[in-house]
Amino acid sequence: MPRAIREFQAPASGSANGIPRRFALTFDDGPDPRWTPAVLDALRATNARATFFVLGPCAAAHPELIVRTRAEGHAVGVHAYEHVRHTELDAKAGAADLDRALSVLERLDVRPEIWRTPWGVEAAWTRPTAAARGLRLVGWNADTHDWRGDAADTMLAAVAPAIEDGAIVLAHDGLGPGATRSGCEETVALIDPLVALARSRGMEPELLA
Ligand SMILES: [Zn+2]
Repeated sequence: MPRAIREFQAPASGSANGIPRRFALTFDDGPDPRWTPAVLDALRATNARATFFVLGPCAAAHPELIVRTRAEGHAVGVHAYEHVRHTELDAKAGAADLDRALSVLERLDVRPEIWRTPWGVEAAWTRPTAAARGLRLVGWNADTHDWRGDAADTMLAAVAPAIEDGAIVLAHDGLGPGATRSGCEETVALIDPLVALARSRGMEPELLA
């Protein structure tokens, strides 16, 4: 979505012709005690940085994974407490859900600057609610559809055309609502070839915040 590109404010990395090429990896719906460590291991193995949009209950249950994520140089954004479409919440309930997630993170000394809403859905109240808390909304424009359980090579082929300047890749390190797979191993397997593809196109994964 064009909005995501416009809002991509990560520091630019250099490129051969001096024009910044921007690329970011993002993972939603964690942290997950089984899959987040595997994603972090894969990122470390290829020396890549990513941004994690976390769920409040998962962060509360696995604070050590939030600590590890940040210690290894990744960014943490807020996703939600309850994974509900904003169109199904009124402004008061939506703000309460966000604040509940933020309070969990604040107890972990994390104060996110970025917010990805569940399913990327926005309601009329979403932007003012974000603005009131100093949060920048972040979407995506390169969807791995990893929740479906496709093989890593299938996902790589499907997402490859979108790996270009301004790409924000959506993947998941947890099994959120709607996931039709039983694990995130193909997402883990996708990381190395996806980062290699981006690097072959002159882009280094950058943090969104
Ligand atoms: Zn989600």
